[in-house]
Amino acid sequence: MIKVDEEDPIGEVEPSFPYRDVQIRRGVDIRDLYDLQEEIGRGKFGTVYRCREKSTGLRLAAKMVSTPKREDRRNVEREVDVMRVLQHPRLIQLYDAFDNGKTMCVVLELIEGGELFERVIDDDFILTEKSCTVFMRQICEGMEFIHSKHILHLDMKPENILCLTKTGNRIKIIDFGLARKFDPTKKLQVLFGTPEFVAPEVVNFDQIGFGTDMWSIGVICYVLLSGLSPFMGDTDVETMANVTIAKYDFDDEAFNEISDDAKDFIEKLLVKDIERRMTAAQALRHKWLQGVAAVTQLSTAKLKRYVIKKRWIKAVNTIIALRRMGAKLEPDDAGAA
Ligand code: ATP
Repeated sequence: MIKVDEEDPIGEVEPSFPYRDVQIRRGVDIRDLYDLQEEIGRGKFGTVYRCREKSTGLRLAAKMVSTPKREDRRNVEREVDVMRVLQHPRLIQLYDAFDNGKTMCVVLELIEGGELFERVIDDDFILTEKSCTVFMRQICEGMEFIHSKHILHLDMKPENILCLTKTGNRIKIIDFGLARKFDPTKKLQVLFGTPEFVAPEVVNFDQIGFGTDMWSIGVICYVLLSGLSPFMGDTDVETMANVTIAKYDFDDEAFNEISDDAKDFIEKLLVKDIERRMTAAQALRHKWLQGVAAVTQLSTAKLKRYVIKKRWIKAVNTIIALRRMGAKLEPDDAGAA
């Protein structure tokens, strides 16, 4: 049986390559330097393939992004720009980048453990509050570093937290596609993100800040502990309306076994006023992450339902996207997606 290791990881794993100062290569075909292998992930913007560098044999991940418009290219350039600054063990590392006009490709460290939520719902896993603190602490460490570089991630959600290996307890934050450099003296408003995880100031198109990521971390923590999504409505509009009033509770029986410290941790993140939200540094000092959390097994039945529903939504969206691109699908593709 695989049990989620409840001990905090000791030391750091050697990265598969030393930190690199990446410049985007223009007019070079990635296939000249890398063997592209099977697809390992897909998001709204990119398709991610396993790949191998021909000269070194190094195994990596290549995120291909279609960039027909100038705006699309600028987005990938921004992602690369941000990632060059973010050299930290809790964050996905950049290896190379290519610009071929209609397509751009970002070569990344390969992370093989899969999405955090997919792993914790595995029947072989025993999820406890203590193991949740191990994951949440690492997420806050990664975010503290991102914020120390004056960058906002702006797309924190469970799909963007990957496990380093299938059995260890180390995680990494991925996907800096929406990240922005942030100058607190300048006004910054955005209108993007995933409704379930975005903060009220995003929905209201108000000034955003470091607290915007911390709200999303609060939502992730709520879902991880309970399998319930605090603001989820039947439609995106309903979800966003729930977010703007910032009202949620711990009334469901899923919270009966959850400690007051864990609830307090969430309450200090899911605060409507961005100024009053806990920072990443404060979160790391919170008693839930500092203390000795409970080791009783948590039920993952609701989290399983949550993850399965997400898989279906993703599969349907993939099919819609492929149809839009003109692909003809066999009936089996829906089940396989
Ligand atoms: P989104 O729709 O969330 O904006 P995106 O198009 O920006 O996504 P990513 O989130 O970067 O794309 O990647 C899509 C998926 O590919 C991820 O959810 C993850 O499962 C997988 N993935 C991304 N990077 C890696 C990596 N370095 N190693 C392994 N798998 C990865």
